[in-house]
Amino acid sequence: MDDFVMRQGALYCEGVAVAALAKRFGTPLYVYSQQTILSHYQKIAQAFGELNPLICYSVKANSNLSILRLLAQEGAGLDIVSQGELARGLAIKVPAQRIVYAGVGKTEPEIAAALQAGIPMFNVESEPEARLINHVAQRRGQVARVAFRVNPDVDARTHRHITTGRKENKFGLSIPLVMDLFRKARRWQHIKPVGIHVHIGSQITSATPYIQAIQRLGQLIAELRRQGFVIEYFNLGGGLGIIYNEERPQTANAFAQAVIPLIKPLDCRLILEPGRFIVGNAGILVTRVQYVKRGHLKSFAIVDAGMNDLIRPSLYDAFHQIVPVNGTRRTRSVLTDVVGPICESGDFLGKNRHLPALQSRDLLAVRSVGAYGMAMASNYNSRPRPAEVLVAGKRAKLIRQRETVSGMLAPEAALLKE
Ligand SMILES: *Cc1c(COP(=O)(O)O)cnc(C)c1O
Repeated sequence: MDDFVMRQGALYCEGVAVAALAKRFGTPLYVYSQQTILSHYQKIAQAFGELNPLICYSVKANSNLSILRLLAQEGAGLDIVSQGELARGLAIKVPAQRIVYAGVGKTEPEIAAALQAGIPMFNVESEPEARLINHVAQRRGQVARVAFRVNPDVDARTHRHITTGRKENKFGLSIPLVMDLFRKARRWQHIKPVGIHVHIGSQITSATPYIQAIQRLGQLIAELRRQGFVIEYFNLGGGLGIIYNEERPQTANAFAQAVIPLIKPLDCRLILEPGRFIVGNAGILVTRVQYVKRGHLKSFAIVDAGMNDLIRPSLYDAFHQIVPVNGTRRTRSVLTDVVGPICESGDFLGKNRHLPALQSRDLLAVRSVGAYGMAMASNYNSRPRPAEVLVAGKRAKLIRQRETVSGMLAPEAALLKE
């Protein structure tokens, strides 16, 4: 599953002791395993190999430039949702031909920037967006290729905040609306619909909702072709679930075996947009215990990472395993809440955990935070965001400097002088 292993009572990332990284780079610290990232990418690439898909890694899961470059070197494209993510793609020189652009709120400058870069396709989520893309492309003398994002109204059976394919969600277009837009687009000279896009949610652990979605979209594609439209691309989105604790998600292979027989007859180039599946298990957050408060019912380990560094427990009730970085002879297990320093009751990393009796300065690792961890970090409570380190074998490389307090204040401090 990943390359974080205990050896003689000490946690290692590949060939490097995590405690040594904490000493060298400080805490809180995100640590990623290159091997885990690559092996997860390869799992998907191989499982779908016979269809030769374009795998567009979803940048929002973890947008660190070094990680993007690593994946691009493996042949991945990118799924972006903003001009900032486009700039990340261009900074690592991924060919624009491998970038697809989703999101419900694309602005005019964002559309213009993506057309300028030469991306092959926008994933369009509403009629006004289609009209604006047509307008911007006209002004620039270009034709924008688009896929319409369908909301197939299937239940992905995941956390309500990360389901995106129900009719009550803001994402995508209903099937009748998509038919309507294909017809309208005949009159729009600067938009060319070339595909169908769908993304039904995140952390999906079974193929069933995908199968339902593909069946519905297969009917739509057949109907569109009967009406003379050319459908070249089928984009199945992302959402593949991973193991955080006791989940039993389908493997990439089992998933591929379940959906390939339905995708093949569509006779389209397949696009996939995995995010969490590639980077989720590949990262840990290393944090140091600051204080231990012993209560009647349980202990509180107050650590130096908070909800600003990792918001998933607070935001989604997400469960992340928390393990001591160095084994201890303290064998008695103590019921412990691992909490951050932030002034919010919702600031916790894990509750009711059975951990060895902790002491100040102990190191803990919060597991499987490679996706939507650092990407969602903020400066709340005026806390500089953590550093990030990428480990490959016995080598560890800093891939994002720890923010400094002065750097954090700079955009405001400069204005005090005016
Ligand atoms: C977030 C997102 C993804 C990636 O989702 P994961 O669950 O991380 O795989 C893919 N496509 C779109 C359009 C997204 O918004």
